[in-house]
Amino acid sequence: MGLFDKLMKDAVSGAVSNAVSEAVKKAVQPKADEIAANAVHQAADAVTQTANALNQTADATGQTAESAEAAKAASGPAEMPSKEEMQAAFGALNSLFGGFVQHAAENVKICPKCGEAASADKDFCPSCGEKLPDMTVADGAKCAKCGRQNEPGTRFCSGCGEKLPAAVLAEQAAAEADAAVLKAWAEKLPDFPVWSCGGSGMGLDLIPDTDTETWCFSVRLVTPVAAQNAVKQYRQVLMQNGFKPEGQYPSDEHLYKRVNGVSCHVDTEHCFEGDADYPSIYLNHSQPNGGYDYKKPEKKQSGGLLGALFG
Ligand SMILES: [Zn+2]
Ligand SMILES: [Zn+2]
Repeated sequence: MGLFDKLMKDAVSGAVSNAVSEAVKKAVQPKADEIAANAVHQAADAVTQTANALNQTADATGQTAESAEAAKAASGPAEMPSKEEMQAAFGALNSLFGGFVQHAAENVKICPKCGEAASADKDFCPSCGEKLPDMTVADGAKCAKCGRQNEPGTRFCSGCGEKLPAAVLAEQAAAEADAAVLKAWAEKLPDFPVWSCGGSGMGLDLIPDTDTETWCFSVRLVTPVAAQNAVKQYRQVLMQNGFKPEGQYPSDEHLYKRVNGVSCHVDTEHCFEGDADYPSIYLNHSQPNGGYDYKKPEKKQSGGLLGALFG
């Protein structure tokens, strides 16, 4: 991933872009005549670093070559720049950086599937082939209700609280991906009630190297407690659909049902061995230990007193 893409991804994730903006603001905002000699040193470093970053970015895009020249000039020679030079450099950087962010936001789209950045003229994601949305990063941060242009990566409009287009689109994409997983479940595992207990970020994967073909369904819940409740709820759904604890070690963590002589098994015992808010449920066609008709052996009549008297 190039620096340009990285900057954009960071801008979308928000935190890093804010950190960069803060760093630049700190370097740019103080009036030069208030900067003590020590601060000038630090600011010069910040200018050099930012200029380097802008140079690389310009290389990556080829679109800000002029700006890069200005930044290169701004980074200047190694010795201490004069106050006037610093002021000029700060001024140039200020407009450069602000201009860059806006320019990038208007010319970049983010893939709703893989999250990679692509230039605005692309219709399909170069990384994963997904159809790209029409909206650029800037469009995605522009409020549909009040029209305010928010910073890229913002979820809710800072002017009116409306959910922003990029956030709406991301939620739609996530919901579609989950729906596709549940559809695949219904096709591949028709005898197992499809998950209906909430969450997002779902996956259904075939576990490699197992004796019995075993599928793992995983789903992200908001909190570990919500995850526990969702799994409990799914056990209820299973039992309502005729699944039961069976065999030698009956437990509601392993529920079984025979469908046309085939044993269906849902394992929720190992749900939380990964993340506490990301349960993994295992589905396969194995028999319960000891079989469906397992009966506990009757306790043998002990010898004891009665045995001694009547034996
Ligand atoms: Zn993609
Ligand atoms: Zn708004």
